[in-house]
Amino acid sequence: MGNERLDEPGRECGQVLPLVTLVIVLVGMACLAAGKLGGAAVARAQAVTAADAAALAGAAAGRTAALEAATANGGRVTGYQEAGAAARVEVELGRATASAQARRSGGAGTTTGAGHAPAMRAALARAAQLLGRTVPVAAPLDDVPPPGDAAILHQRGLAVDVPAPFVASLAPVAARAGLCQPYPTVHPVHFEVCGYRLP
Ligand SMILES: [Zn+2]
Repeated sequence: MGNERLDEPGRECGQVLPLVTLVIVLVGMACLAAGKLGGAAVARAQAVTAADAAALAGAAAGRTAALEAATANGGRVTGYQEAGAAARVEVELGRATASAQARRSGGAGTTTGAGHAPAMRAALARAAQLLGRTVPVAAPLDDVPPPGDAAILHQRGLAVDVPAPFVASLAPVAARAGLCQPYPTVHPVHFEVCGYRLP
């Protein structure tokens, strides 16, 4: 009797230890699987974002803009079709793929559509993607010096003035959207399509 009682805890330990090990291994495998699933979900979400941005840019300004927008979002365009005002884009990002369609909105009611050159529409579409909201555009304020080419760029739809409270939101993503802020001190609301030279 006494011997058996002394032995029992040891026997239990001998059985429990492999079980504990097995549970730890299973938990470890579950964690790995969850991590992989999580990573795949993130990659998928990023691919969807890149495809959306590319489709918007494509619909607004064509294939080159779509390629740029996909690249800016870490993706690569693997398929591109345009039909009328619509663009359909397939994007690959890591192992994830996504496709998206967008239609050019030509109505004067849209804040980003009317009167803007295709390059500006594409830049505003990219900025909207990066910000998760439409970029509001105010009436131009080019009586503020120094206008330089600013007034001409406004006339050609290659510059926009945004509401002053929106500058702080737009400025950090402007470069990634292809927008430059040439007068950050005297005319901070003014954003132009980067690299555009007047002919
Ligand atoms: Zn301006």
